[in-house]
Amino acid sequence: MIELLRVWKEFDIDEVSKHLLIVGESAGDCSNCRELGINYLAAKSCPKCGNDFKYVASRTHETRKIKNKRPDLIFIDLEDYKKVTGRIKAKDLFHN
Ligand SMILES: [Zn+2]
Repeated sequence: MIELLRVWKEFDIDEVSKHLLIVGESAGDCSNCRELGINYLAAKSCPKCGNDFKYVASRTHETRKIKNKRPDLIFIDLEDYKKVTGRIKAKDLFHN
């Protein structure tokens, strides 16, 4: 029986932010330039900023469906990503 489990792995967060496709209800958006309405089933790169997509995260729970459609992308958990980027932002504010 095949089920999904999240794994813990170290990532360069700046690198992830530049190449992350965030999937919503019906379309995706680019975490680098915030472009909206991207066809997440097909887009290899952002139509606006041109960055390649290497990572994907989802606002919905259709993880398996998205994974099946985009085996070329590394699937990260959006909550994990938001937690880390929130912490980095807070640290930046503290040091400025
Ligand atoms: Zn972009």
